[in-house]
Amino acid sequence: MRTFDKILRIALTIFFLALIIYLMVRDKDTRTVSRELEPAVKSWQQDMTSAGLDWKTKYGLLRSVKLAELLPGKAGYSNRFAYSIEIADDLPEKGEYTLKTTVYHELGHSVFNLKHGCCSIMREEVSSEEECSRNWPSWLKEYTDACKQIKS
Ligand SMILES: [Zn+2]
Repeated sequence: MRTFDKILRIALTIFFLALIIYLMVRDKDTRTVSRELEPAVKSWQQDMTSAGLDWKTKYGLLRSVKLAELLPGKAGYSNRFAYSIEIADDLPEKGEYTLKTTVYHELGHSVFNLKHGCCSIMREEVSSEEECSRNWPSWLKEYTDACKQIKS
């Protein structure tokens, strides 16, 4: 009887430990986001929330947003089949707003199904850091308006 109690106690302890570990892991974001891209992705999430856009459902399908070596002249790439976004690894050094513009552009394709030309951020050409930072507030407004239009 004593042995049975001991086994039961051990079994219960293991069960609760496993439950705690499961609960800790369950809600964790398992997506891979390159450290250099985290600030741009976070600011995109905040901007989309502020604009009242539902980004979480489609963003939840994305497996990774990471830096990669892309073909010369390519700033970013959204792979719809692999649910991943790749950003040219030399982009962070070009400036904060150049990087933000590209991250918003690719997330625009993946999450909101935005097409090229629907707004300044969705242009195919990469703009200079000076142009991106100077126009950022109006570009962001155009972008969120385009997202809202797609949804309605
Ligand atoms: Zn594009």
